[in-house]
Amino acid sequence: MNNKKSLEIYNEATKYIPGGVNSPVRAFKSVGLDPVFIDRAEGSRIYDVDGNEYIDYICSWGPLMLGHSPKEIVEGIEEVVKRGTSYGVPTAIEVEMAKLIVEAYPAIDQVRMVNSGTEATMSALRVARAYTNRNKILKFEGCYHGHSDALLVKSGSGLITYGVPTSPGVPNDVVKDTLVCRYNDLDAVRTIFKEQGHEIAAIIVETVAGNMGVVPGTQEFLQLLRDITKEYGSVLIFDEVITGFRLNYSSSVGYFGIKPDMACFGKIIGAGLPVGAYGGTKEIMSMVSPVGPVYQAGTLSGNPLAMHMGKKNLEILRDRPEIYEELERKAIRLEEGLKANVEKLGLDYTVNRAGSLVCLFFTNGPINNYDDVTRCDVPKFNKYFEELLSRGVLLAPTQFEAMFLSNAHTDEDIDYTINASYEALKIAH
Ligand code: PLP
Repeated sequence: MNNKKSLEIYNEATKYIPGGVNSPVRAFKSVGLDPVFIDRAEGSRIYDVDGNEYIDYICSWGPLMLGHSPKEIVEGIEEVVKRGTSYGVPTAIEVEMAKLIVEAYPAIDQVRMVNSGTEATMSALRVARAYTNRNKILKFEGCYHGHSDALLVKSGSGLITYGVPTSPGVPNDVVKDTLVCRYNDLDAVRTIFKEQGHEIAAIIVETVAGNMGVVPGTQEFLQLLRDITKEYGSVLIFDEVITGFRLNYSSSVGYFGIKPDMACFGKIIGAGLPVGAYGGTKEIMSMVSPVGPVYQAGTLSGNPLAMHMGKKNLEILRDRPEIYEELERKAIRLEEGLKANVEKLGLDYTVNRAGSLVCLFFTNGPINNYDDVTRCDVPKFNKYFEELLSRGVLLAPTQFEAMFLSNAHTDEDIDYTINASYEALKIAH
C-alpha cells in the first residue's frame, strides 16, 4: 500500500501537533502503524492523500448515519455560511433543533446545546449534583463519557488502548467522588448503593457501551439502574453520545423501554459538525442558568452551521423510519458474515451487535464487561486491522471500538468486507 504522502504529512504533523494528531486513537499507534491522512470522503468511502480508497467503518466515530457528505444534508450549507457563521445571540433554528430532540426523546422536556459530548456529560453531571445537592457519581468500567477530569476514570477505548486507568493531571481530589462499578454487574450496583446511595448524585451510563467494543447493557442491569436511582433520589443519566438516534429514533428509551432523568447527546445530532447537547426533565433543567443557579455557557453553542446539519439529519431520520430497518438489516448481514468467518476458521471469537454497531472481539464470549473485553488478543487484532486496511477496509484502529455502519454502506460493501475479513482473519490468527 502506497502511503508516501501520508508519511510526509505525518512527519510534519509530529513537529507541530502532539503525536501528529488531534485525538490520540487517530495515530494508529495502538495498532503499530503510521496513520493515513485523509483527503476526502463520500458515502461509505474514504480516500487518503495517496489515493487509497477504503470502505469506512470509523465514519467519524459515529455521527454519519447517512454516510459521508450526503447531498440532502450538506445542500444549503453555503447559504447558511453566507448569512453568518456564528452570532452569539439566539436563532430560531436552535429552538427547532431543541424541539426535535425533545419530541424524539420521551424522557426529557428541555435540552441545552453545547459543542461536544464531553461538554454534554460534564454539564449534565454538574446539574445533577446541584439538583440533588450531593457530590458522588457512579460510572462503569469501560464506559467513556468524554475527557473531563471527573469522568476520566477507567473509561474505555482510548485509555484501554494506551493502558491508562486514569490520566495523570487529574487530581485525586477531583476523582474521589467518582465511584466505579463493573458494567452489567447488578450486585456491585446494589452493594454500592446500600453503602453510599444517599450520597450519590447520579449514575451515568452508556446503555450500550461503545467504547470497549460493543457491549450492550442487559435489560435487568439498566432496569436496576432506573429503580435504584428512583429509590435513592439519584439522577439517572443516559450517555447517548453514541447510541442517541442510532439505536432507533427515540434512542435508548425506545430500544430498552427505560426512561432516564437526563440524557446526553453528540455525534449524530451534528451530522459531523462539532456539537453536543444535554437534557432532562423540566424540574432538573430549571437548575440551569439563567433560570437556575448552575452556570454553563458556550461561545459557539447552537452554532448555525451545526444546527443546520443536525436538524436536517434528524428530520430525515424521523421521516424515514425505513433507514433504521435497513441499517439493522445490513448490520445483521455483517454480524452473520463475521460469525460465519469465525466458525469457518474454527475460532472462538465473539461478535456483538446492537443496532448498527458491530464488533468482532478476539476472544470467546460472552462479553459483558470490561474484564471480558480485556481478554482480547490485541496483537492478533492489530494484524487483522493491518490486513483489512491493505484490502481497502478501514476499521477503528483499536480492538475496543465499534464498526459504525451508515445507510450509505451497500450490501456489496458489506459482502466485500466479510470476504476481506475472512482473508485477514486467516492471516492474523
Ligand atoms: N460519551 C460517549 C459515549 C462517547 O463515545 C464520547 C466520544 O466518543 C463522548 C461522550 C465524548 O464526546 P466528544 O468526543 O464529542 O467530546
